[in-house]
Amino acid sequence: MQDESIGDLFDTGLFIDGTWVRSSSGDTRDCLNPADGSVVATVDEAAPDDATRAVAAARAAFDEGTWPRTPVAERTALLATIADLLERDKEKLARIETLDTGKTLAESRIDIDDVVSVCRYYARLAAIESDRVVDVGRPDVISRVVHEPIGVCVLIAPWNYPLLQISWKIAPALAAGCTMVVKPSEVTPLSTIAFVKLIEEAGVPRGVVNLVQGSGAVLGGALTDTPDVDFISFTGGLVTGRVILETAAKHVTKVAVELGGKNPHIVFADADGADSVDQVLTGVFLHSGQVCSAGARLIVEDSIADHFVAALAARAEKIRMGDGLDPASRTGPLVSMAHREKIERYVALGISEGAELVTGGSRPSDPDLERGSYYLPTIFDRCDRNMRIVREETFGPILTVERFATEEEALRLGNDTEYGLAAGVRTADSARGERMVRGLRHGTVWLNDFGYYTAAAEWGGFKRSGNGRELGPAGLSEYQEIKHIWHNTAPTAAGWFDND
Ligand code: NAD
Repeated sequence: MQDESIGDLFDTGLFIDGTWVRSSSGDTRDCLNPADGSVVATVDEAAPDDATRAVAAARAAFDEGTWPRTPVAERTALLATIADLLERDKEKLARIETLDTGKTLAESRIDIDDVVSVCRYYARLAAIESDRVVDVGRPDVISRVVHEPIGVCVLIAPWNYPLLQISWKIAPALAAGCTMVVKPSEVTPLSTIAFVKLIEEAGVPRGVVNLVQGSGAVLGGALTDTPDVDFISFTGGLVTGRVILETAAKHVTKVAVELGGKNPHIVFADADGADSVDQVLTGVFLHSGQVCSAGARLIVEDSIADHFVAALAARAEKIRMGDGLDPASRTGPLVSMAHREKIERYVALGISEGAELVTGGSRPSDPDLERGSYYLPTIFDRCDRNMRIVREETFGPILTVERFATEEEALRLGNDTEYGLAAGVRTADSARGERMVRGLRHGTVWLNDFGYYTAAAEWGGFKRSGNGRELGPAGLSEYQEIKHIWHNTAPTAAGWFDND
């Protein structure tokens, strides 16, 4: 059974070498709506030899095709057309994203807007990027540094922001002139399949964009354990990222990994109370906490902590949870029953570690939500960094609370994590705020705000949150090789061995 609004949109197979083909194994996968467990669509499940064929198609398109040598104006025109098509299909794509991930329609619409802006940003950036002339001190030599596409890219995305995350990779890869194999998460492949259809409609040349959806564990070897791939861009968990780095090292393949986070949100007593409660609440419970940059660790000044946690709990208990398609819902279910079980294990762990459960800690009692993978916003007070619930990424609606007495202690706690993706600071003292944001070792730091990003500014992690950057100019550089060209316009002998 398929969702009526989607029909047979996804009964198309895999996109390899410019053609939609069936999986060689004949296997399929049901994509479930987390809100009620119904089947949204059934999609082909790629086998390893499909992935190998996709890599070969991308390799041929890079080595023999026109795309890497296409004038930049044509590449940017394609990106602009893709952005137009995304805008045309915004409502349909947003609905697909909500049915597949469970997030609210309002969030899905914001995601699609962001995907459009990423495509338009890289179209603009590629157009203005110029080569660099280097003065080598010799009038007969023209020396310049040029950017060339890095080659065949494997782009692997997670399930929490399926379309958004893959667009951060596809847009700069196309802008740079690369060819690619796209591998969405098997948990939420639908919007990526729809996106690749739009890219096809926009007129991408054959073999430049290939799509294989399926299990990462099954397809991973064919996609990463090969000398035919020049760059792997991976967003997902730390454990998978490590496997990919180890595999790719055999071939000295360049890899960029965007991994998890356990992000501190530090609140000083002088910060505006109501705004801070609101921002901490949104920062951790948006999309039910399934956000790599979720502010899952509240670090709050002692003097306001009791009051602050009570106010947070009161707000958390009022969050309207429900089907993402219902405009009244402010947050949806977790992505799957399996993920909810993981969250339940973390809550049990938090209790056994001695954290104080303030609110949540269970599934909602509303019978209307029984068929979905819902879980209540949960707050643990009296936590300390020795607890696993504080150190590990739970990737769900769980906030832990730690307290501090001094600025130094707040900074130490904020940096006391193996991750370094994002952090927030709230204070009315701007000098202190500046000291804090410079001291925090995280890839993005918000001062008196939380969760925002823009296509023009780099995104990525310090420490075990990853390496490399997406978005911004660095997000394009990842997809480029740098070549120094030394052109002697008046060739002469080198003369070094004249007397030998
Ligand atoms: P995951 O690591 O389980 O899977 C990510 C992707 O890798 C999926 O497409 C999966 O199929 C694939 N995969 C799995 N095993 C593989 C293998 N051996 N070889 C190649 N590919 C393989 O992660 P997830 O559960 O989908 O996503 C959640 C994680 O993603 C969280 O840790 C979250 O913090 C992180 N994330 C990070 C960012 C960021 O910008 N840093 C953004 C979103 C999500």
